[in-house]
Amino acid sequence: MSDVRTVLVLGGSRGIGAAIVRRFAQAGDKVTFTYVGSHEAAEQLASETGSTAVRADSADRDAVIASVRESGPLDVLVVNSGIGVFGDALAQDPDAIDRLFQINIHAPYHAAVEAARHMPEGGRIIVMGSVNGDRMPLAGMASYAVSKSAMQGLARGLARDFGPRGITVNVVQPGPIDTDANPADGPMKDLMHSFMAIKRHGQPEEVAGMVAWLAGPEAGFVTGAMHTIDGAFGA
Ligand code: NDP
Repeated sequence: MSDVRTVLVLGGSRGIGAAIVRRFAQAGDKVTFTYVGSHEAAEQLASETGSTAVRADSADRDAVIASVRESGPLDVLVVNSGIGVFGDALAQDPDAIDRLFQINIHAPYHAAVEAARHMPEGGRIIVMGSVNGDRMPLAGMASYAVSKSAMQGLARGLARDFGPRGITVNVVQPGPIDTDANPADGPMKDLMHSFMAIKRHGQPEEVAGMVAWLAGPEAGFVTGAMHTIDGAFGA
């Protein structure tokens, strides 16, 4: 792997993804990231960090595969894009649930496989799961939990497929992190903090630090594993 790594972050315009983009860009890596709706935030982040923003919907398999191909060969793939559809399972629109599965499950799988086609020895695949892949203490979030548990199977299986080439596949599992999707001052904060040993939301930069370590040279023996960063939400 060369000193300047080629990195793709799927879903990098805001929140945890933007912190990951900043972290790799600060390390001097060549970073591309995708987004879907936040054009202005994406352009601003790209100019701030010297990274490249590409509009590509993670619900569109062909667009995901094209993004990986066009920004590769990749040293590091981070699949961060993810959504939640919350509420009564009996009342939810099945199309909205299928779109969640496309973004949260299909995109990571197809992106990881496509990236591995041309990834060099020492390559890194990191997907954003959730502590909800291990523990779901609340009603109304089953589809999200399904999708994040699926990342565990992805990592275990693809770690076997790509390990012989020195490529690692790992899941980062955050607990509550302060982003637009889960603001630290949101209505659920007290309930979420009641489950935790460290009673606060995490910061996107704390998650980006874990991603950076998994992508770095010290983590070459770490694969097929879940890395929880949750203030003991799931403990
Ligand atoms: P945000 O909603 O704050 O940001 C999501 C990012 O993903 C944005 O950059 C968004 O782009 C992008 N994205 C969403 N859908 C798509 C899509 N269809 N195609 C391309 N990009 C897309 O989320 P968070 O930063 O909070 O979450 C990031 C990841 O971390 C998700 O996978 C989430 O499930 C996971 N996570 C978050 C936790 C939290 O408490 N915040 C806890 C556990 C896991 P755009 O700006 O264009 O919409």
